[in-house]
Amino acid sequence: MKSSYDILVVGGGPAGALAAKTAARAGNSVCLIEKRSAIGTPVRCAEGVGKELLKEYIKPDPRWISAEIERARLISPDGTTVSLEQDKAGNEVGYVLDRKVFDRELVWQAAEAGADVVVKTRATEPIMENGGVRGAKVLSSGTPAEIRAEVVLAADGTEAQFARRAGLDTTVPLREMMSCAQYLMTGIDIDAGSTDFYLGNEVAPEGYLWVFPKGDRTANVGIGISGRKSRDGSRAKDYLDRFVAKNFPDGKMIEAIVGGVPVCRPLACTVADGLMVIGDAARVVDPLTGGGIGNAMFTGRLAAQVASECISAGDCSKEALMSYDAGWRASHMGRIIERNYKVKEYFITLDDKKLNTLAASIANISLKEFSVSTLIKELIKRNPKMLLELKALK
Ligand code: FAD
Repeated sequence: MKSSYDILVVGGGPAGALAAKTAARAGNSVCLIEKRSAIGTPVRCAEGVGKELLKEYIKPDPRWISAEIERARLISPDGTTVSLEQDKAGNEVGYVLDRKVFDRELVWQAAEAGADVVVKTRATEPIMENGGVRGAKVLSSGTPAEIRAEVVLAADGTEAQFARRAGLDTTVPLREMMSCAQYLMTGIDIDAGSTDFYLGNEVAPEGYLWVFPKGDRTANVGIGISGRKSRDGSRAKDYLDRFVAKNFPDGKMIEAIVGGVPVCRPLACTVADGLMVIGDAARVVDPLTGGGIGNAMFTGRLAAQVASECISAGDCSKEALMSYDAGWRASHMGRIIERNYKVKEYFITLDDKKLNTLAASIANISLKEFSVSTLIKELIKRNPKMLLELKALK
């Protein structure tokens, strides 16, 4: 680790890894620091990702693919099941990853591209000069040090401490912080080709419970509920334990994790002088699905491209870096986040009876394409009032 780089990346998740790889390939000197002693652990993720999305960033490799998914099933409170199948035209569905290996592979690719990667190194606060970020103070294996950089990319995930300390408002309202718990379970009867989503206020208030297969008789069984619904006896883990006791009484739990997923709108501004915020730290998780791997990689890559141009032009001011902020907002990802935020706000108002009615309205249709967009369009087609209710939302 040197004391000065063109670009410093704080955090070695998918956002930071893609940013470091892109920035290094563009010829910058890059340092990626990660506070944990190993990349990829502990995994705080259900590990589901769309095939098409992933292929944009990395060639699929069986080493980090736990399962290939052919269908998704939505199970409403009364048990009505909506099945979204991989169609005959070959629209591919998704993977359940092994993120311990996947995250490592992404960071390895960044190192191969020329980035310095330093684990067990935590950014404690930004180096601030003339109102701008000029690097980070770090604790590297317990030893304090300073790393200066033209641009810092804050990829430190949900906690988003770095951007907060640089003066950006990264607050997530309690109701929009999903409180999650998950078990990796084995010895359970599942459909190994299906990701299953259980809906309803009894099962997962203002959220959902998932069963994502990781192979034969093995799955990530997890839940996310709104932070405002979490209280003694009704925490995410309590709902999950009740579901597991009922559905997989003989299953074995071989890993347990908890975590938070921000399902709020993205940060009001994702740049400052010398600073760009990417991935979960920028709050670019899909608010409806809670999926953030793809969006983390998208923002990581875009931020590194813009940072490279700004460094070449000798201007890393907030104004110059703003083309990253404007770029992701205008992108397909930005538009989907905005639309899905409203759909999420609509869904959390629904009681179980309404959820059952909506599920029944699309239970027997066959979709031309497997996507959340197609699902929403079909719901609106069969429940036209929904469009007016969605439009009324801010
Ligand atoms: P992270 O992956 O969180 O990486 C941030 C990294 O920064 C971490 O390695 C952390 O140790 C490091 N770090 C933090 N602070 C510092 C510091 N000060 N200095 C140095 N390093 C630091 N998304 C999906 O697409 N599909 C799913 O199925 C899915 N399921 C999920 C289930 C759960 C229970 C949870 C919690 C999340 C889930 N997500 C899912 C979301 C997904 O995990 C995140 O969106 C994704 O990991 C974001 O990547 P990131 O690089 O922005 O952040």
